Amino acid sequence: MSLKPPAQPAKIQNRAVAIFGGTFDPVHHGHLRAAAEVSEWLKVTDFRLVPVGSPPHRSRTFASAFHRLAMLELALAPYSDLAVDDREVRRGGRSFMVDTLKSVRQEVGDAPVFLCLGQDAANHLDTWREWERIFDLAHLVVMTRPDSRSSYPENLATVINDRSVTRTRDLMDSPAGGVRHVEVTQLAISSTNIREQLAQRHSPRFLLPATVLAYIEKHNLYRLPADHSDGLE
Ligand code: ATP
Repeated sequence: MSLKPPAQPAKIQNRAVAIFGGTFDPVHHGHLRAAAEVSEWLKVTDFRLVPVGSPPHRSRTFASAFHRLAMLELALAPYSDLAVDDREVRRGGRSFMVDTLKSVRQEVGDAPVFLCLGQDAANHLDTWREWERIFDLAHLVVMTRPDSRSSYPENLATVINDRSVTRTRDLMDSPAGGVRHVEVTQLAISSTNIREQLAQRHSPRFLLPATVLAYIEKHNLYRLPADHSDGLE
């Protein structure tokens, strides 16, 4: 009698993945609307919001990684096509996007990976660790708004121009290396403004999901003095 080998867990192959990183401190409708529009435009069903564990470019976050993850989970709970990916928090240490993309690439084989960035973040891409390596690992999708202008430094502008594709299909047919700019609705909402409102005892209701606001109130986040513990609790 020959024994059948145990079924191997299927390695996810050729399924496009989109990564949208941010501090999400807290997540708000600006993030969510941008994520919804880009995921629809890319037609990816695996769209992941990746909260930064420990930001390389900021001294600290205001809410802990534990709370930022919990708020994202609440915000995305109704939407099965948008998910939280906690790998940067789990990894610990400073969160470098290149490390995040390397680990995603290991999981998805040669499937297309899209790194979705706001124009504000993309303008400084050349300050990121191993930034040129990012193009070996992912396509860059820069989320712009009607009045936003790119202000890439010269070295970055050259790379972006060389890699820009005009047809979305060109991104779908290869795992990495292309650049597209996509216009998304930019709601005039920022986490900074929400934190300021909370610190002044104003309600930021309707700027973020009600479930997230309820969580903030329950845990007394963003009140003065600021909750600025970092890492998991
Ligand atoms: P903060 O005010 O603390 O700087 P933020 O609101 O800008 O935070 P981040 O978590 O830093 O949020 O943003 C993550 C990504 O989301 C960035 O690439 C940014 O461009 C994008 N983003 C932030 N706010 C909006 C918005 N209102 N509309 C669309 N995209 C947004």
